[in-house]
Amino acid sequence: MATVGVLALQGDYEAHAAALARAGAAVVEVRTAAELAAVDGLVIPGGESTSMLKLMEYYGLFAPLREFGLAKPVFGTCAGAILLATEVLNPAQPSLELLDMAVERNAYGRQLDSRVVQLTGHALGGEPDLEAVFIRAPIIRRVGQGGTVLASYLGDPVLVDFGRHMVATFHPELGQDPRIHARFVQRLEAA
Ligand code: GLN
Repeated sequence: MATVGVLALQGDYEAHAAALARAGAAVVEVRTAAELAAVDGLVIPGGESTSMLKLMEYYGLFAPLREFGLAKPVFGTCAGAILLATEVLNPAQPSLELLDMAVERNAYGRQLDSRVVQLTGHALGGEPDLEAVFIRAPIIRRVGQGGTVLASYLGDPVLVDFGRHMVATFHPELGQDPRIHARFVQRLEAA
């Protein structure tokens, strides 16, 4: 069975751990480089990307996380997606630069501070709609090389598969739909 790590510095990592366990994975919380080295894939949760970035630097995890992502799958949700992008806007901030995409933070404005929507026409298979919880979400402004958009909302990509990695601008761990976590777990088992 694949072991999935959840970066547990800040944000809603506990909900991700529960969702991954429901998808059949062995889950461990990751706070150190040694813990990171022992997992087959990693989820970077939602939360506050600036705080998470500072904690990554403080705990000496920035370089190990980047190395990890060059070899193994990472799934970033919301703040986690921001931390993976090559280009961060509003304001610009450093990131792991593992995925060729541009993201604009808090880009839906107050209108989408927190909202649950049904995504139609997604490419996940199974029942038609996908429930998506958005919380101060970024907008993906550009998807570069290797990115396949699996779901969009108001015309912007919200779930993108990059082959090894995946990103969502919403919070799949807060809904009941297991398909997204299952997709990530399957990828680790296939690797
Ligand atoms: N607004 C947060 C940021 O820019 C992300 C919000 C979230 O992860 N739900 O870091």
